[in-house]
Amino acid sequence: LVDESYKRIAEVDGKVQSFLTLDEEKARAYAKELDEVATPEGLLFGMPIGVKDNIVTKDLRTTCSSRILENFNPIYDATVVQKLRQDQAVTIGKLNMDEFAMGSSTENAALAKTKNPWNLDYVPGGSSGGSAAAVAAGEVLFSLGSDTGGSIRQPAAYCGVVGLKPTYGRVSRFGLVAFASSLDQIGPVTRRVEDNAYLLQSISGVDPMDSTSAQVDVPDFLSGLTGDVKGLKIAVPKEYLGEGVQPEVKQSVLDALKVLEAQGATWDEVSLPHSKYALATYYLISSSEASANLSRFDGVRYGYRTDNADNLLEMYKQTRAEGFGNEVKRRIMLGTFALSSGYYDAYYKKAQQVRTLIKKDFEDVFENYDVIVGPTTPTPAFKIGEKTDDPLTMYANDILTIPVNLAGVPAISVPCGFQDGLPLGLQIIGKHFDEKTVYRVAHAYE
Ligand code: GLN
Repeated sequence: LVDESYKRIAEVDGKVQSFLTLDEEKARAYAKELDEVATPEGLLFGMPIGVKDNIVTKDLRTTCSSRILENFNPIYDATVVQKLRQDQAVTIGKLNMDEFAMGSSTENAALAKTKNPWNLDYVPGGSSGGSAAAVAAGEVLFSLGSDTGGSIRQPAAYCGVVGLKPTYGRVSRFGLVAFASSLDQIGPVTRRVEDNAYLLQSISGVDPMDSTSAQVDVPDFLSGLTGDVKGLKIAVPKEYLGEGVQPEVKQSVLDALKVLEAQGATWDEVSLPHSKYALATYYLISSSEASANLSRFDGVRYGYRTDNADNLLEMYKQTRAEGFGNEVKRRIMLGTFALSSGYYDAYYKKAQQVRTLIKKDFEDVFENYDVIVGPTTPTPAFKIGEKTDDPLTMYANDILTIPVNLAGVPAISVPCGFQDGLPLGLQIIGKHFDEKTVYRVAHAYE
């Protein structure tokens, strides 16, 4: 499998550009070692896997697709990478992304331009564009992405693969380069729902190195994949099929609901009334957290340092001016502004209050329903370059994925048809720590 993986990468990655760094020598050596194992024990024994480039890998370049980390070689493995290794998966290499995971198209990447394997003129989505494209193009069987506002589910939808954002706290974030710490989660991208459950099984669990990882049992995610959804109650928020959602996208969701109905589930229309505030809330909170998190890139501790400075302050400023791309600078400025004295109460604090209301919307619906279903995105993938000059339309892409991160609940995107030759995604949202039911519904539909 590892040989096949590198063969496929050699064939197609020149065009798709999913990978930033390959770990070929070590991966092949490890695969050889596994060949000698008499009785395979690891859950992911010998499976080729790609890792998003904001997840640190010991002695393997980890760039976040940023100039500022272009030559950064971490001295430790993220917890998820250690867990994959314990389960005997083989890391093939590191996957491209929007710089520091800020974006929805992987066009903000400083080091490569990933394309949608279904049509190379289109974006793969983002920020985990490399993770989704690599799986869709058959370069790896599994990959890891990260999702702060939709970055696993949106590219999974655009590339026609399965992507899950776990419940906040389900998976350790130790070794994930932080973007917005109260929203970030690592999650699996695969072709099939069953594979996805295997990968989540491997990476889940409490971690003493991450105080935000939750002390909850990890159930057997695979045991729910029975194909049975009899008696299951589905809620469909009217806000998710309203304005801005293309008719074909809406139709694909209604068709999917028919499939689930035929298998014994029922559905009703519900409301998540605060959805309209989610985008603004998300950009205030995520940018505020990003402005604090990214202060560590100062030219001293990690990666790039400018040559064009005569004193320390100039060195900080010049390093950041040269090292960060435009979108990253935009977020840092937005966040610094929202947190500054005199504005904090009006912006950051208000956003936190609205976040609570958004979370409550979900809790109210989940009192009577098992899952929430809707589209992952309002449209299929867009053309490369189409939205690069207009950050606001780019941000609007995540309107259906962002509320999930604000609420901290799990959600998956599974392929649900095509529009003009481009894949569409069905989003299934679950209760806190109920990935099992999310998988059950996704698997029954798939
Ligand atoms: N597209 C959103 C943003 O730019 C979400 C990114 C993410 O989930 N990492 O912030």
